[in-house]
Amino acid sequence: MKAIQVAIPGDASKMQYVDVPKPTIKSNSLLVKNEFSGVNFIDTYIRSGLYPVPMPTLLGREGSGVIEEVGADVTGFNVGDRVAYLTVNNSYAEYSLINPERAVLLPQSTPSDAAAACMLQGLTALTFVRRAYAVKKGDIILIHAAAGGTGQLMVQLCKYFGATVIGTTSSEEKAKIATDAGADHIIYYTREDVPTRVREITNGQMVNAVFDGVGKSTFQASFDSLRRCGTLVSFGNASGKVPPIEINILSKGNIVLLRPMLNDYIHTHEEFAEASSTLMKLINEGHLNINVCKVFDLQNAADAHHYIEAGKTTGKILLKI
Ligand code: NDP
Repeated sequence: MKAIQVAIPGDASKMQYVDVPKPTIKSNSLLVKNEFSGVNFIDTYIRSGLYPVPMPTLLGREGSGVIEEVGADVTGFNVGDRVAYLTVNNSYAEYSLINPERAVLLPQSTPSDAAAACMLQGLTALTFVRRAYAVKKGDIILIHAAAGGTGQLMVQLCKYFGATVIGTTSSEEKAKIATDAGADHIIYYTREDVPTRVREITNGQMVNAVFDGVGKSTFQASFDSLRRCGTLVSFGNASGKVPPIEINILSKGNIVLLRPMLNDYIHTHEEFAEASSTLMKLINEGHLNINVCKVFDLQNAADAHHYIEAGKTTGKILLKI
């Protein structure tokens, strides 16, 4: 089968469109013929070596498609069922062997592109605004890269839970997207001082929590935008990894700092099933809009990585398999 493989960590030029053996079914797995694979920032971290994995490796943490084979010990799934799933570095490929405990059956009404587009960023946004910091009515929340894939979903969810949302973006075009998603205020964080603007917008109250997937370039501004006992959820490295910090900086204002990963909020099948069914319900009821901004062919996956690393995303990027 065709797949994208990385043999040596590095930039997007290291991604090769190759022939690899089609996976063979295992008793506890599903073999899925992929229709779409989601592109996520984490794929660039695996490719570059920021998150080291054994090489060579395939890429891709989510996808959607049709079940071609069902492992002998698997129940609840049949050949021909359409599924969306989370996986570990194997969905940029024609076929993926996946864990049935990380898959959801898709109703006829849900298109495969929307399904592939919602799993990883949707579950991240949902679990983080419920568990990393439980957003509630009356909160004021700062969300960086509010027009990005995860950012737009977080904005919508924070509004759904009754918060006032301040979003940051780098351009007017992205500000409109974040505003359409529900952001009440925009800060142009590449040219405005974020804590100063947060102070003005909140009349000096500052924010209850910051969701920061940008990382290195925004960490200090996120920290300085919090109120007493505020929470900083630092969850990504889009601009680079946050440098090590001195723990005592948390004592001024009793700040809560988290650096969560999605997988540990959906570790058990029960957690995954609850979060994914809540996510699908929010989408089906119209509370959460999934915005696919660009679709690339599998063989052009390197272009998708250039696109996300250049900060061009205004929603979800997919690979059509
Ligand atoms: P996005 O679609 O949000 O793209 C990233 C955005 O970050 C860009 O659109 C850009 O917006 C902004 N940005 C700021 N600086 C840079 C930079 N130097 N290079 C590129 N982009 C930059 O991506 P995702 O939604 O896929 O991911 C967002 C973050 O969430 C990532 O850091 C990712 O790792 C993290 N994440 C973490 C998870 C976890 O489990 N911890 C799970 C899923 C995602 P603008 O132009 O407005 O600045």
